[in-house]
Amino acid sequence: MIDTLPISIVSRLIEESLDAVLVIDAGGCIRYMNCAMQGLSGYAPGEAIGQPLQGLMPEAYGEQEQGYIERFLANTRQADILGSVRAFAIRHRTGEMIPVEMKALDLGAVDGVHYYGAFMTDLRARRAAEAKNTALLEQLERQAMSDALTGLPNRRAFEIEAGRIVARAKRSGAPITVGIADIDRFKKVNDEHGHPVGDEVLNAVSAVLTQAARASDFVARIGGEEFGMLFPDARPETALAVAERMRRAVEGFPVITTTGVALNITISIGLAAFGGSLSESLSQADKALYEAKNKGRNRVEQK
Ligand code: GH3
Ligand code: MG
Ligand code: MG
Repeated sequence: MIDTLPISIVSRLIEESLDAVLVIDAGGCIRYMNCAMQGLSGYAPGEAIGQPLQGLMPEAYGEQEQGYIERFLANTRQADILGSVRAFAIRHRTGEMIPVEMKALDLGAVDGVHYYGAFMTDLRARRAAEAKNTALLEQLERQAMSDALTGLPNRRAFEIEAGRIVARAKRSGAPITVGIADIDRFKKVNDEHGHPVGDEVLNAVSAVLTQAARASDFVARIGGEEFGMLFPDARPETALAVAERMRRAVEGFPVITTTGVALNITISIGLAAFGGSLSESLSQADKALYEAKNKGRNRVEQK
């Protein structure tokens, strides 16, 4: 038991604790703050003693209203906060809200004064680390789903999106069309102008396809110079119209490279109504693409 220790030793221990320690009376008057509590609240030693707890409380506890401490304590009891650790916030002298983990205790009455105590731990560092981790995780997820060169969704993202669109279409019964767009004679671009110029063309085509798509369509880079497309709520003729718009948009404007070369680029597109699995549908679209290539390229064919 702690009462085997001299009271001065216990006082010293509490004074130096890493946890902030606060004691108030039942009237809401601050009776004690240890060093850590002074650091947490921004009040100088002795400055807050005798002051109302109000100054440390979040605005939600009603600054102007009377009886806030009674309500706080009543809430505290009701919410069973006393004795257990809860997330809370205190107001720093500067007005900044500081998230803390708090364990509040009913310390009982001595000489007619009822005391309540609280241990508080500053949660700012933990919250900041959590926020940083969440942001990092989101960034990693984004990177894992997108193609580094063009910024388009990658094959993995394409497959996931297809799963979503198919699930939605199953409920609504709406038709889906899948497509593959492939740059015509792209090897020649690389061979004649170099790989970096080829990369610029890939970027330019990506941008044109995305702009020409409807808001609900999904365009991804699923291979070297191949783009997978999902047209939800699209009957074959609707998808055909969008694909034609894409083909014409690529054909319509030469790609001007950073080296100042103007390149006339065309694409071929194969379309297929979604049926069975994604890979079966893509293989149908691939057959249509093969046909478009065979018929002279810069065309859209449909299965
Ligand atoms: P086709 O009209 O039949 O599609 O002919 P093609 O030359 O486009 O087709 P092929 O499949 O023979 O060549 C594709 C080329 O795409 C070959 C490859 O070097 C190039 N390629 C694939 N990925 C990239 C890339 O990330 N950057 C660049 N610059 N080229 C790439
Ligand atoms: Mg290809
Ligand atoms: Mg090609």
